[in-house]
Amino acid sequence: MGIEAAIPTDNILTTQLRHVVNWARRSSMWPMPFATACCGIELMATASSRYDIARFGMERMAFSPRQADLLIVAGRISVKMLPVLQRIYEQMTEPKWVISMGACASTGGVFDTYATVQGCDQFIPVDVYVPGCPPRPEQLLEGVMAIQRIIDSDGIPPKGPDGKRIPLGVTIQPTHAVKPQPVGLNVQS
Ligand code: SF4
Repeated sequence: MGIEAAIPTDNILTTQLRHVVNWARRSSMWPMPFATACCGIELMATASSRYDIARFGMERMAFSPRQADLLIVAGRISVKMLPVLQRIYEQMTEPKWVISMGACASTGGVFDTYATVQGCDQFIPVDVYVPGCPPRPEQLLEGVMAIQRIIDSDGIPPKGPDGKRIPLGVTIQPTHAVKPQPVGLNVQS
């Protein structure tokens, strides 16, 4: 993974350099949206002005996997789409992270059928699960901040002795209380 290999030993200089590299990484993540269903709409809302994912340096959605380092799986995955998801994950450059957004991506949700993958973590390593059907944009942002904290503390994702990526498997617990609409709504005929 490039720069880590060039910093072989721990001393004050390399520790500081590692902090700078981690800061740069977490401040400029480029997401690869894999949005197949309704959760994708919430993902789009997260990028809109009200929630403004640009605050995290992530406004540049990368529709080329080779330029992305955060895969956001949003929506149910059909068995037919699975090879596409796997290929996109494989094509992303290291280091890379994965968020599973919503019940369908994480477990298949209510679609307990032969045609729907019952959790994308059976086929790609998932680092953060964002629960909900759909999760609100705030929850997705919590997932993003969890990834940022992981990068801050650990840097690159861990690998096992066999060289395979170890999924971090963090689950987000929403910590915010949803407030009522600032303006009252009424529907008149
Ligand atoms: S979790 Fe809910 S909102 Fe998201 S894709 Fe599944 S059914 Fe749609």
